[in-house]
Amino acid sequence: MCDESLVDENGEINDKQVDFICHNCGENITNNNEYCPKCGVKLNTDELIFNSNTKNKSYLKIILGIVIIITVILITTAIINYIQISNLKKELLQGWERVDGDKNSNILCVLDFSENEIDYRVETGYKWIDTKIATFEYKVISGNKIKVNRFGYGWETINIEFNDDKTMMKLSPALTSVDDNEYWFQFD
Ligand SMILES: [Zn+2]
Repeated sequence: MCDESLVDENGEINDKQVDFICHNCGENITNNNEYCPKCGVKLNTDELIFNSNTKNKSYLKIILGIVIIITVILITTAIINYIQISNLKKELLQGWERVDGDKNSNILCVLDFSENEIDYRVETGYKWIDTKIATFEYKVISGNKIKVNRFGYGWETINIEFNDDKTMMKLSPALTSVDDNEYWFQFD
């Protein structure tokens, strides 16, 4: 004998409404009844037996829900990270320069980013003096961080901050010196 309300239109037990079974006759108990509606035994809350099938199904649904939420978060994070990395790569590839020394100095330092390398060179306006100072291996690891392999010290993380119109970037620590940070300007 099944209570009508416990059965859905497909004739299956409605999970949501079945919480406990009577310890005496096994009847499904959905309300906080004092007596079992089937056998009339007094129901003691402590003695009510979990309908383990129903509970297990509920737990499975909760676990499945959590797994789906976590998966969605991970995929979203990966996509955002990918977009941020692509954007930073694009910004860096445009080329960066800095005047060394005082304002009237003719020595222009240049950072030339390619896919995996940064060429650091100076330009003086005199071809015979122009020199490539170093080539660093690098990789973009997030929207504001690169890893650089300088001077064989292993991979170091450098933070990159842009100004609003992305014409200036601050590297911390500095790439071309031992300073805490340095500023580079995008080519005109
Ligand atoms: Zn009963």
